[in-house]
Amino acid sequence: MSEQSHVNSLFLNEDAAKRLNAESRVQRFQQAVQKRAARAKKRMHSITADSAKSFFRRNAFVLFTIAAVLLGIILAFSLRPYQLTYRQIKYFSFPGELLMRMLQMLVLPLIVSSLITGMASLDGRASGKMGMRAVVYYMVTTIIAVFIGILMVIIIHPGKGSKDKLHREGRIEQVQTTDAFMDLVRNMFPPNLVEACFKQYKTQYTTRVFTRTVLHSSNVTAGVTTTQISVPENFTSILENVTHALGTLSEVLTFEEVIPIPGSANGVNALGLVVFSMCFGLVIGSMKQKGRALREFFNCLNEAIMRLVAIIIWYAPVGIMFLIAGKILEMDDLAVMGGQLGMYTLTVIVGLLIHALCILPLLYFIVTHRNPWVFIAGLLQALITALGTSSSSATLPITFRCLEENNGVDRRITRFVLPVGATINMDGTALYEALAAIFIAQVNNYELDFGQIITISITATAASIGAAGIPQAGLVTMVIVLTSVGLPTEDITLIIAVDWFLDRLRTTTNVLGDSLGAGIVEHLSRHELDAQDCELDYFSNLSRKH
Ligand code: ASP
Repeated sequence: MSEQSHVNSLFLNEDAAKRLNAESRVQRFQQAVQKRAARAKKRMHSITADSAKSFFRRNAFVLFTIAAVLLGIILAFSLRPYQLTYRQIKYFSFPGELLMRMLQMLVLPLIVSSLITGMASLDGRASGKMGMRAVVYYMVTTIIAVFIGILMVIIIHPGKGSKDKLHREGRIEQVQTTDAFMDLVRNMFPPNLVEACFKQYKTQYTTRVFTRTVLHSSNVTAGVTTTQISVPENFTSILENVTHALGTLSEVLTFEEVIPIPGSANGVNALGLVVFSMCFGLVIGSMKQKGRALREFFNCLNEAIMRLVAIIIWYAPVGIMFLIAGKILEMDDLAVMGGQLGMYTLTVIVGLLIHALCILPLLYFIVTHRNPWVFIAGLLQALITALGTSSSSATLPITFRCLEENNGVDRRITRFVLPVGATINMDGTALYEALAAIFIAQVNNYELDFGQIITISITATAASIGAAGIPQAGLVTMVIVLTSVGLPTEDITLIIAVDWFLDRLRTTTNVLGDSLGAGIVEHLSRHELDAQDCELDYFSNLSRKH
């Protein structure tokens, strides 16, 4: 019995031990799970905190800039009820004006140094191919933009009704289409490079008074012979004598003629500097070893300017906030935006949105097979700066930085494509000019035929090339488009009231077009760039061995 109980107790002990073991294993397991969960929780916290921090660090500029835009709008609308005077608004916008000045200060050395180093770093054939790709891209996108502008204005037809109800503002300077075209070509070849840094050629007009002697011989004779007067026989000879005398009479008439004379306008002649820098860069590149000193000099200059950009970029959000707030404070009553002008504004906005958010990203995707939105996200700061400054050339330093730092676009491409793009590729401006010209025709009840629409497309393209990358430059070159089809140029004053706003949107489209163009040209030129990299590696290895 006792043995039996002993055996039982033994079994019991074993069971208890087993149970205890199992329990402690469960407990240990639970503890391990709890520990692991706590660790995972901690890691999760640190991951989210770290990633949030790194996201913030990476996108600090963009976040500040977006916040600046919002703050600017809030500030302006809360100050509007106080009805500040023009002088007060100007003082208020002072920090914004400073940003514009800082950016403009960098544009000139940036264009020159980047184009020279860009061209010098490419061999003749590679730069030729790249240049061709860039030009084809500029032409294709500009033509598409003009087409969208024309389509939108024909479909929406914002110019219904009479133009008498429209509000007029400002004054427009007259330019003749031929002279404007010739000025464009003249400006490509500045006779004085120093002057090109602050002045452009611009035809002026004057009236020349001159006299001309007019003989009346045939007129008078004809006049007399055709008159049927019955006169006596002897009178005929007298009449003949008088007619003869009159025929030899001459008259001195005074004429007035409007003639073009050389003149100039203030502002950097970007086109001239671009042409010169490209040629100069090509020559330096072809000089190989002999051109090294100049190549290094301009390279160094470019680096230094980009470092200045890195400093100024910190100030950009403050400047943008005041630029936007100042403009909203300056804005006229929104009542002018009603009716036809409101419809016109809407048509331009829809056209620009279609081009900027559908056509350009689609083109980028078709060519590169990459996500265009990721690329555009990297450009956000440049786009907001364009919106704030309404100048694609003042935005150029920021565009450079966004493309190189955020999107990793090859410097050989940005240095070459961006300055040229900022000077001649303006999709937003081309779209706007074609659309505005047809709107003016609509408010004048002027039926345009197909030939005239083609003329508008061609002149709008040329006008966008000729427009400088400065605020409201497109409004000035609009005159060329209107005169080419005989529309009244003084009607530009009908759309001035909303131009400050549309200018910002078209400048943003211009900057987006240039930047996506750089991405596309880089993708298409990757083989040449790779080949050049291999060549450079080979030569640097060779020189290291020796
Ligand atoms: N402001 C525009 C730009 O700088 C030009 C225009 O007026 O359309 O790109």
